[in-house]
Order: sequence, then C-alpha cells, then structure tokens
Amino acid sequence: MECRQKMHRIPRDHPRYESLRIRQRMVDGSARGLAVREGLLAHGRGEAFDYLLGERTVPEARAASRAAAALLLLAKRPVLSVNGNVASLVPREMVRLARAVPGAAIEVNLFHRTEGRARRIAAELENAARRPGRKGRASRSTIRIFGDRPDARLPNLSSQRAKCHREGMFSADVVLVPLEDGDRAGALKRAGKKVIAIDLNPLSRTARLADVTVVDNIVRALPEIVRQVRLLRRASRARLEKIAGGFDNTANLGRTLGRIVSGLRKLSGKRRP
Ligand code: ATP
Ligand code: MG
Repeated sequence: MECRQKMHRIPRDHPRYESLRIRQRMVDGSARGLAVREGLLAHGRGEAFDYLLGERTVPEARAASRAAAALLLLAKRPVLSVNGNVASLVPREMVRLARAVPGAAIEVNLFHRTEGRARRIAAELENAARRPGRKGRASRSTIRIFGDRPDARLPNLSSQRAKCHREGMFSADVVLVPLEDGDRAGALKRAGKKVIAIDLNPLSRTARLADVTVVDNIVRALPEIVRQVRLLRRASRARLEKIAGGFDNTANLGRTLGRIVSGLRKLSGKRRP
C-alpha cells in the first residue's frame, strides 16, 4: 500500500516516529473506508492535546483507567462503542477488552453513519477477534459485535449516533465511549447510563459529562484499561464499588489541566505566581 511505503522512509529514530506511526494508521483506516475524513481532523485535535501532555500516560489517566475498569466489572450490561477512528487505531485492543470484561459487547456507532461502513468496521473487529493472540493461540471465546441494521434509537438525540441496537447500547448500563461527540455522551447520561470516555481533550463536552474520563491517547489508554481489568477481575464488589465511588471526575480533569498549565509555564520560563 502506498501510504505504508511512505512510512518505511521515516527512520525509527525520528523524534516524531510514534506519533507519525499512529497518524499513518488513521490514514490507512481512512483509505480502507473505516474512518471518514472528518475523523482525520478529529485525530488532529487529539494529537494537539497529546503533545501538551507529553505523549505519555499521566498519573491522572492511570487513576481514571482504574475507575473505568471497576465500573466495567460492576456493570450488568457493559457495551464498548466503536467508531471509524477506534477501528483504525485499536481493533485488537478493543477485542481484548471485550474478552476481559465478563458479558461485554461491542457496538459500532457512527456520527457519519452508512450501513456499509458499519459493516466494514464490524468485519474489521471480527477479523481482529479471529487473529491469534500474542501467545500464538486463537481465542475460542466469542464476543458479541453489533454492527449494521440498528433496531432502536437513543432518545433526545437527533444525529445518526442515536441509532443503536436494542440488545446492545440501548439496554446497556455502562458504556465506554472513546473519541465521542458531546451530544451523545449527554444523551447516554440522560438515559441513565454510566459513561466512561477516552478523550485527549480535557475541555471537551464529552470529557466533562462522563462519569470517568481517561485523558490519554486511545492507543495507550485501552491497554492500560485492559491491564487494570485483569488486576481487578477477582476483586470483591465492595472493593470495586469503593474504587468507582471514590473517583471524582471533575477533580481529576482539573489536575490534568493543571499539569498542562504548569508544563507550559515551565517551558515559557515563568514560575507559578
Ligand atoms: P465534544 O463534542 O465532546 O465537545 P469535540 O467536538 O471537540 O468534542 P469531537 O470531534 O466531537 O470533538 O470528538 C473527538 C474527540 O476525540 C476530541 O476531543 C479529540 O481530542 C479526541 N481524540 C481524537 N483522537 C484521539 C485519540 N487518538 N485518543 C484519544 N482521544 C482522541
Ligand atoms: Mg463534538
């Protein structure tokens, strides 16, 4: 593929190698009809915040990932939402998370929805689920993936993102919404669901509306949530409730913003007043 060849010309020791590699996955996903061009722009907004955070998992993101893992393990009907960007960047990690959380389902949800693209994304996830894992073994456990032909609508939402599956998102109690639009995050909250967001922008409506927001690049956030789920899988309900209940999203976002601000102050040579 032409774009892959271009990537080969970027030397591994290029200081922006990792960021360029992630960007390339988005370009590939767009060329394969998984992501739309608008998704590339949304990725650019994410990159800017990633830059400000030092392109690493900050302690606040780790704390949020732990609360997210506890919420997912407490859920009766957890659903993981996937859009074109998520399918381009982390299809295998999404499948891994769905396998790690008992009873979890995956559902395709798109702002610029066509049933063809929903089918392609579902097929991408099914392929990822069929591929052998790191130890070379194909997993036998099947996961439910809701793709095209939605049969329900999320109330109070006029965009295409309202289209959902009765057995999936519609009846979920906890929903993971990576790279989400604020309108749907609000509609999910109004429908009484717990919302976990993965969003690099701590100022977005989604980040502010969610119960738990992991401010980190999804390529790092998902493996961290999977790791925390595995650590907590055998924890008691009381312990999980304590972790989830003790998490304050507004305060955590405040600390994340504080980190950005103090990083900028240092760079500008100005100390805190
Ligand atoms: P909102 O609708 O919540 O106010 P927005 O309109 O600013 O947000 P959208 O385009 O609706 O932004 O949502 C995309 C969000 O995903 C952005 O906040 C962007 O920072 C974030 N984002 C993009 N790429 C990534 C990524 N790789 N990892 C995590 N977050 C990302
Ligand atoms: Mg938006």
